Amino acid sequence: MATQLIREWTGIQHFPAATQNKLLELLGKLTKENVSSLTILVMGKGGVGKSSIVNSVIGERAVAVSAFQSEGSRPVMVSRSRAGFTLNIIDTPGLVEGGYVNDQALEIIKRFLLNRTIDVLLYVDRLDTYRVDNLDRQIIRAITESFGKGIWNRAAIVLTHAQLSPPDGLSYEEFFAKRSEALLKVFYLGGPLMWRDPLASPMPVVLVENSGRCNKNESDEKVLPNGVAWIPNLVQTIVDIALNGSESILVDKKLIEGPNPNERGKMWIPVILAIQYFLVKIIHRAIKNDIAEEPRPAWEVENFSLNGSEELDELLF
Ligand code: GDP
Ligand code: MG
Repeated sequence: MATQLIREWTGIQHFPAATQNKLLELLGKLTKENVSSLTILVMGKGGVGKSSIVNSVIGERAVAVSAFQSEGSRPVMVSRSRAGFTLNIIDTPGLVEGGYVNDQALEIIKRFLLNRTIDVLLYVDRLDTYRVDNLDRQIIRAITESFGKGIWNRAAIVLTHAQLSPPDGLSYEEFFAKRSEALLKVFYLGGPLMWRDPLASPMPVVLVENSGRCNKNESDEKVLPNGVAWIPNLVQTIVDIALNGSESILVDKKLIEGPNPNERGKMWIPVILAIQYFLVKIIHRAIKNDIAEEPRPAWEVENFSLNGSEELDELLF
């Protein structure tokens, strides 16, 4: 693993005082729970605002943001420390190429993550996209196959471009609810979390507005149309996930090179079938022996020529 330069998190000082206070309070909450570092993985399609989120949270231009140029093909980890706490955010290239999931990009991301632990996944998309299609399903399936279902216990859906006026006379809250539900259905109906109810989703959906033209409140904090100061709200969600009691995802060699992590249990199926087969054989033999050893009544010896074990074979199979 390459040595990582950990810089002081000076960007935090560029936030308005109200945001700074909330962030320091949240970091304090983590250190109180003995969490001294967090590694956040940011993934999603290209151009949705992944790199912008990294810069917004760090409070400086740490990674390149571009509307037109294609992104770099390698992940980048930005590490900042503050008061004994280290925040690592990993920005990744988009997961879609030519209308399909880019398996090579996913492979590069996995190898970059080798021997690291993912504490939180931010799955990024845009709020102002109206449809969820098969490609979204494919991306979510590819992430699940790469890191296991457990990754979604550590995830939040982050929707960018959140400063919008909803279409069709919908209120902001109604539009947000509809977009969230459409995305969450991908996870719940036939998706990796299919046994749960999408409307009672434990997976948080958070809103982000990376644009410099984002509205501000009287404390100079960037706010969404619903009045929420989104940077502290996003960090609050990250902290809640970090402390939700589910396991972080260790990306080890087994996860990268082994079988699909969701199918590992299936490796035991032939072993269990073999054990069952031998157990039946043993029981069968024991019954046969019992019958052979049992003294037969005189009438049976006279009337039946078949031997007991053949009869048993017919009965059992
Ligand atoms: P990535 O490819 O997912 O890393 O996306 P980038 O962060 O590079 O952003 C792609 C383009 O969208 C850039 O021009 C950003 O300025 C713009 N952008 C990203 N997030 C937002 C957002 O929340 N609101 C608006 N208005 N533009 C955004
Ligand atoms: Mg990017």
